[in-house]
Amino acid sequence: MVTRKAASEEARAASGRVTSPKELTAIQDEVAALHRRQSTLEDDLLERMEARETLERELAELASRREAVVSEQAKVGQARDTALAEIDRQLEVERAARAVVAPTVDERLAALYDQIRRRQGGVGAAALVGNTCQGCRVTISPVELNAIRKLPAEEIKRCENCRRILVVG
Ligand SMILES: [Zn+2]
Repeated sequence: MVTRKAASEEARAASGRVTSPKELTAIQDEVAALHRRQSTLEDDLLERMEARETLERELAELASRREAVVSEQAKVGQARDTALAEIDRQLEVERAARAVVAPTVDERLAALYDQIRRRQGGVGAAALVGNTCQGCRVTISPVELNAIRKLPAEEIKRCENCRRILVVG
């Protein structure tokens, strides 16, 4: 529109129909102003085109990152499902093993075990490995360790720290 207006004003000035020098000067001034305006508009357009290109590049980058995240999420979900299935399978194995052993355990020991298990986050008994209780990971003192080792086989052994039943190998 600005270009058309400038061309028409220039044509009017060149036509010879305008004879007043004052009017000719006015037309020339307007044409110059229109050319400046056109130049400004072209600069704006260029800036906008550059901004658009930048945004399009960013959009493409974001789309590709989104794709990577979605694919990673699918992989993590799959790994989680596999791990859960494996845990269920192991739980079944352990439950079956427990069902075989449970009826053979002394009633007093079984009652104590259940009581400790409720208090100690589901773990009622722990192995003694070296001088460390595997239930609380606390080292048992040499004096206590000696006393535990001296107890007869049928006597229930307890950890002095967490009070779990100690399985002494
Ligand atoms: Zn312990």
